[in-house]
Amino acid sequence: MITKKELIGIFQKNPERYWKVKLFDDLGFKRKQCKNCGKFFWTLSDQETCNDSTCKPYKFINKPVTKKPLNIFKTWKVIQKFFVDNGHIPLKRYPTVCRWYPLYFTIAGIVNFYRIDENGDLDWEFPANPSILLQPSLRFNDIPNVGLNSKSFTCFGMIQQTSLFDGKNGYWKDKCIELDFNLLTKVFKIKPEEINFIEDVWIGHGAFGSSLEYHVQGIELGNAVFTEFMGTPSNYREMKEKIIDMGAGWERFTWITQGTPTCYDAAFGPVLKKMKKFCDFKYDKKLFLNYAKISGKVNLDEYSDLNIALSKVATQLGISVGELKKSIEPLQALYSVADHTRALVFALADGGLPSNVAGGYNLRVILRRALSFIDKFKWNLNIQDVVNWHIQYLKKMFPELEEKKDEINKILEVEIKRYKNTKERISRIIESLSGKTPTQEELIKLYDSEGITPEQLGIEASSDFYARVTERHMVEKKEEEKIALDISGLPKTKILYYDDVCNFRAKVLKVAGNFVVLDQTAFYPTSGGQEHDTGYINGCKVVDVIKLHSVIIHKIEPCNVKEGQIVECKVDKKRREILKKHHTAIHIVNGAARKILGFHVHQHGAEKTEEKARIDITHFESLTEEQEEKIEEIANQIVEKALPIKKFVMKRGEAEKKYGFEIYAGGYIPSRELRIVEIKGYDVEACGGLHCNNTKEVGFIKILRTKRVADGLVRIEIKAGDIALSYLKEKEKILKEVAKKLKVKEEKVPEAVKKLFEDWKKKRKLLKKLRKRIGQNANIEKRVE
Ligand SMILES: [Zn+2]
Ligand SMILES: [Zn+2]
Repeated sequence: MITKKELIGIFQKNPERYWKVKLFDDLGFKRKQCKNCGKFFWTLSDQETCNDSTCKPYKFINKPVTKKPLNIFKTWKVIQKFFVDNGHIPLKRYPTVCRWYPLYFTIAGIVNFYRIDENGDLDWEFPANPSILLQPSLRFNDIPNVGLNSKSFTCFGMIQQTSLFDGKNGYWKDKCIELDFNLLTKVFKIKPEEINFIEDVWIGHGAFGSSLEYHVQGIELGNAVFTEFMGTPSNYREMKEKIIDMGAGWERFTWITQGTPTCYDAAFGPVLKKMKKFCDFKYDKKLFLNYAKISGKVNLDEYSDLNIALSKVATQLGISVGELKKSIEPLQALYSVADHTRALVFALADGGLPSNVAGGYNLRVILRRALSFIDKFKWNLNIQDVVNWHIQYLKKMFPELEEKKDEINKILEVEIKRYKNTKERISRIIESLSGKTPTQEELIKLYDSEGITPEQLGIEASSDFYARVTERHMVEKKEEEKIALDISGLPKTKILYYDDVCNFRAKVLKVAGNFVVLDQTAFYPTSGGQEHDTGYINGCKVVDVIKLHSVIIHKIEPCNVKEGQIVECKVDKKRREILKKHHTAIHIVNGAARKILGFHVHQHGAEKTEEKARIDITHFESLTEEQEEKIEEIANQIVEKALPIKKFVMKRGEAEKKYGFEIYAGGYIPSRELRIVEIKGYDVEACGGLHCNNTKEVGFIKILRTKRVADGLVRIEIKAGDIALSYLKEKEKILKEVAKKLKVKEEKVPEAVKKLFEDWKKKRKLLKKLRKRIGQNANIEKRVE
């Protein structure tokens, strides 16, 4: 595996090829190596060091680059206008919770356009070319630097300039840098000699290329990535269609026009002002200003120890690390609270849910971190107020946040209560530590198992603590099934199961042990949580059906089918019908759960077997009996309505445009074409499973039970159709038996049971009284109870 550093080394053997653009020649940019950090950069000036924040202080603090300060809204307006005037199509933002690609969150604007193709490789989906948009992005690997270096966020707006260049359409490096240079010099009036372009590379999941970061007065404002190779640096091919992926910092552009001490002051505007009022702490403003100017050097990615990270800066300021830490800590906390709450606003509005699973883990981390800061400094600050101030401020650009306000607050209430409850366990844990300081690993375990933060224990964790706990929860991992069968060279299996076929003939293409591959099949392979079909191939029992990329593999009981042979196949129709009903019922229940519980409800997993079906939904607490009943009621209403269920194949981009990203209910789908399952007027999902043609065919849906299976996950188990009916009949039989034993009519059973229970309680009370009277006699109790 080639590292980023090695790739830079390879490219730097030929810098003209990878980094030089026309503008550099036209204006006479020179290539230099920074005396301080060693990076190569392009400049018009004679400076010996680059403009990165590790090499330069933030020069614009108190000396903004523009005459008039711009707030975040105006900043975006002028930038968007510039790109639109230059032929870019403006796009709407995408959700911050990423449902179309195996990432939990949208970590950058370009992620909007990432997809996975049929072979599991990186693929692209561009709705317009070239395009410009502002993408709120969430990243949790930079948590420790938030509030500290004046520029890092967990939630930031990425200005995403994208162009797909195929030789004719779109543009490539020269035009990209020309545009970005003009944005800086013409719109933001930055002097050309103040701009540095630093050579860098980008290695993503499945693609890479060179990049030019543009730095001005100590701050990186943007990074233009020239994606031109698919694969990895050790095994790649040049792309026919190359991609310009320029991401710039919305908050940073705002910051340089305002010249505030930190980027947070510029980005959070009135929210931060209100927060400061509520927290009302004193700090040395002059010292902080001096710190802020050079705070770009503080980097906890390099040093996990805050003392080491701050030592250089402290020396420069002429004070001790201890003094510096004491003076900046409350501000770091305040800025972090502002940042974390804004991240939560976007994530929750987009359907994220704090929990202990998947991406929800990160959301809980930042919420608890924010709450811990408020606790630590004993601020009279209500975190929900901060959330609502953010919404109030942002709503004119993001009205959807206001729409989701009530539900965001409801989720936060539950989460805050949970955080407070953990406090009770804290004293117990502190006791069990008996004065010993836990190791980092133990602290992480404590957070994982109990949800308790180091701050709550009064322990100073290493500065990368939160980065380390979130690290493992960034990327969704999908395990590939291991099958002892080589499918290379086999053609895509022709699929018959969508056409309701049960009896068919096929040609055997490959036999390996118990595995058989046919040229076509009606056997549905286990996928999307739906169990496979069973049946017979030439009289041999089919016990499992698996899909590997586009080849379907049948596992059969020992049999002598041979390659090249034509076989008679028969799918077990009864089982197929039950699975279809269960599968369709899960779509219906999912829709009903969203209607009753809210937009944060998403399918986390599902399983449809012959016996029953289940769906795990994201929800913050156990369901009440009433909620359960309502979901069942709505589900059965939908069944009764006999809504047609349409199934059709659509181009991925078109489907996303028409129905939104909620179609990825079961997760991202590695395909350029999506099979859409639409229950008219009720629910639309991209789904490859088998469904009824009409909701009425499901017959009847019975919720068996619901259960909180994990933090943030509720499991709903159901039966549908005949299976549900025989289940009810079974229950009825039991009821009859009970009624018989109680010697009452069936409808009187609840009453009779209640009476029985009350009698038992009375007797128990009496017994306790007696026991008291005769002194302790545990034996009696044991015998009677
Ligand atoms: Zn440098
Ligand atoms: Zn489905």
